[in-house]
Amino acid sequence: MGCMKMLVIGAGIAGLNCALRLLQQGHQVTVIERQRGPIDRVCGEGILPFGVDLLEELGLADTVRQAGFPFVGLSYHHGTRQVAGNFAPGQMGIGIERKCLDAILREACARESGYELKEGVRLKPGDDVGYDRVFAADGINSRWGAQRQIRQSSRLGVRFRVATCPGDRVQVHFFKGYEIYFTPTQKDTLSVACLVDPMKSGMGGSGLQSSCLAAFRQHFPELAEAPVTDLAARGPISTRVSGPHPDFHLLGDALVAFDPICGAGMSFALLCGKLAAAHCQDTEAYYADLKQPQRSIGCFTDALLFFRGGGWRTRLMLRQLALAPASFTRMITAHDGRHQFLDLGFPTLLPLLRPW
Ligand SMILES: Cc1cc2nc3c(=O)[nH]c(=O)nc-3n(C[C@H](O)[C@H](O)[C@H](O)COP(=O)(O)OP(=O)(O)OC[C@H]3O[C@@H](n4cnc5c(N)ncnc54)[C@H](O)[C@@H]3O)c2cc1C
Repeated sequence: MGCMKMLVIGAGIAGLNCALRLLQQGHQVTVIERQRGPIDRVCGEGILPFGVDLLEELGLADTVRQAGFPFVGLSYHHGTRQVAGNFAPGQMGIGIERKCLDAILREACARESGYELKEGVRLKPGDDVGYDRVFAADGINSRWGAQRQIRQSSRLGVRFRVATCPGDRVQVHFFKGYEIYFTPTQKDTLSVACLVDPMKSGMGGSGLQSSCLAAFRQHFPELAEAPVTDLAARGPISTRVSGPHPDFHLLGDALVAFDPICGAGMSFALLCGKLAAAHCQDTEAYYADLKQPQRSIGCFTDALLFFRGGGWRTRLMLRQLALAPASFTRMITAHDGRHQFLDLGFPTLLPLLRPW
C-alpha cells in the first residue's frame, strides 16, 4: 500500500492513536482539532489492562506508566459491603491525567514524519474533501456519525482531583442515583469521578458540581479537608446507536460512547485506532472486527447499569459477589473486549447464584 493522504477529525485518544498508527505505516496524516491542547477532559482517567496492552504496541506504555500511576484491580463498595479483585498476574491498569495522556500522544505523533496538526479548527461535514481516507474521531456528539439513530443517556459526569495518597485499585462506590469512582493518577493524587442520574439522585442543574463535591465530602469525611482541584462537569456521557455504518471510519465515542461505568471507553478508543489503521482501506472489515468488542463491552456495561442505583439490586450484586470473590476476579480479568458474560462459563457464574 502506497503513502496516502489521511484526515483524522478530533485529537482525542481515538484520533491521536489512529493517527500515530497511520504515520507508522508511512501515510501522510492531518489531524484537525477544534480545541487547543493538550486537553484536560472530564474522565475517570483509568485505563484497563487491555488498553495498556494497546499502548504497549504503540511503544508508549512505559511513558504513560511513568506519567501516571498503576492500579492492580478494582473494588466495589456499597454500605458496609465491599468486594475486591486483582487483574490477572502481570496485568495492570494505569491511572493518568487526561492532559498528560494527550501530551504523550501528541508528542509521539510529532516525532513521526508526515504529521500535521491543525488546532482551533472546527471541521464540518463537507470540509473533508481532498483526502484519500477520513477517520472521524470527534467524540460523543460526532457530526460525522449523526446520520445514525443516536439516543443519549441522561446521566451526567463530574470529575475533580484530590490531593491524597491513593490506593492501588480503582474503587467504585455505589449510592442512590450515583456512583463515585476513585482512580489513582499520581502518588499523591486521586482522580474522583461522579456519574449521576439527575432524577434519581436529586442532583443536577447548575449545582451539579457542588452537589457532587458535597456528597463526596459527606461520604468520605476522612478526605473532606483534602485540597480539591480541576472540578468540571460533562454530559451526556453515553450514547445508544443504531443504523447502518457510514463508508468511512468512525472511532471511539463517535462510533459509540459506552456508559463510563464500564471503565472501557479509552481502551475501546485505542482498539478503534488499531483496527482503523489495520483496515484503513476497508471500512466493512473494520466495523466487522469491532462487532465482538462492542457486544462484549456493551454486555458488561448493561449488566452494571442494571445493578447500579444504590438500591436492592446493588445490595444483591455486592452480596453475591462477596460470596464468590473468585468469580469477581475472573470477571474483571475477562473485561477485555473479547469476552462476554456467558463466555465466563459455569464455574464462574454458578457461584454468583448461590443462595445467601
Ligand atoms: C465522567 C466520565 C468518566 C469516564 N471515565 C473513564 C475511565 O475511567 N476510563 C475510560 O477508559 N474511559 C472513561 N470515560 C470515557 C472516555 O472519556 C471516552 O470514551 C474517551 O475520551 C473517548 O475518546 P475519543 O477520542 O473517542 O473522544 P474525545 O476524547 O471526546 O475526543 C474527541 C475530540 O474531537 C474534537 N472535535 C469534536 N468535534 C470536532 C470538529 N467538528 N472538528 C474538529 N475537532 C472536533 C473534540 O474537541 C475532542 O478533542 C469517561 C467518560 C466520562 C464522561
